[in-house]
Amino acid sequence: MKTLTGRDLAAAIRTQTQAEAASGTQPRLAVVVATADEASLWYVRSIAKAAAAVGIDCDLVDLGPQATPERIGETLARLSADAGVHGVMLQTPLPAGASAQELAAAIDPRKDVDGANPLSLGRLAAGLPAFPPATAAAVMALLDHHGVELTGRRAVVVGRSTVVGKPLAHLLLDRHATVTVCHSRTRDLASVTAQAEVLVAAVGRAGLIGAGHVAPGAVVIDVGTNPTDDGGLTGDVDFAAVAEVAGALTPVPGGVGPVTTALLLRHVARAANLP
Ligand code: NAP
Repeated sequence: MKTLTGRDLAAAIRTQTQAEAASGTQPRLAVVVATADEASLWYVRSIAKAAAAVGIDCDLVDLGPQATPERIGETLARLSADAGVHGVMLQTPLPAGASAQELAAAIDPRKDVDGANPLSLGRLAAGLPAFPPATAAAVMALLDHHGVELTGRRAVVVGRSTVVGKPLAHLLLDRHATVTVCHSRTRDLASVTAQAEVLVAAVGRAGLIGAGHVAPGAVVIDVGTNPTDDGGLTGDVDFAAVAEVAGALTPVPGGVGPVTTALLLRHVARAANLP
């Protein structure tokens, strides 16, 4: 069984992004935050740090947990209209009553570096240029980096969120995989996932995918990030059990996660230099 780590790939993307950021317009990312959630605040600070390390400016626009949907929407629209800002991101969770999907429509698609505007998803579905959500792009980048063939292969995505499952299904289709998408109402999940030559778990349930869900030799990508009691992270895949069956498997942490952050920053550097 091959462990598909993401750290080397993430480092290579960061090196490339640093060169891109240094060669054109100085890129600037704005991250809008409206939460007191510690994990979320930790994540945006880690993005800011990673941005600084590759020469990308990053503003954390903290509106506080009481921000109204109107204020969040106006802020996204203002940043989208600001020629000095090239990437705009809306961090979740949001205050009660605010819909991330509706608010993200205020992000200019050319600055929508995490593919959150429904227009970006529509463009992806139509095969038009758009920034995919960084996590979905990270899954594709990992598959390519490790030389996984997709054309004509059976791919199963577990999870249909607009952030991961749906955009990923479109990206896999674009690469000529035969794609099935599973979700909470899928009957007999294991019988569907066991057909997969490439299986992606993006659910948010620790250990949901066990050995019985996986065909011998399958490539398994674990997008799930579930907090553990000891303050760590674990995936949706029971790593030890599935490692006995799969041909290749991503670890959590150290698989999709680092590639996601690196690609988000690459999107910002590209957005700064769009024609
Ligand atoms: P989400 O919006 O909660 O969506 C979860 C999906 O899983 C839904 O489509 C849901 O089905 C499906 N699901 C729930 N229980 C299921 C079950 N028992 N069997 C089959 N499907 C089931 O989550 P998300 O935002 O897509 O995130 C998914 C996971 O990826 C989370 O652990 C998240 O933390 C992680 N994540 C990681 C990264 C990274 O960079 N590594 C980035 C983003 C997210 P329904 O649609 O029917 O409800």
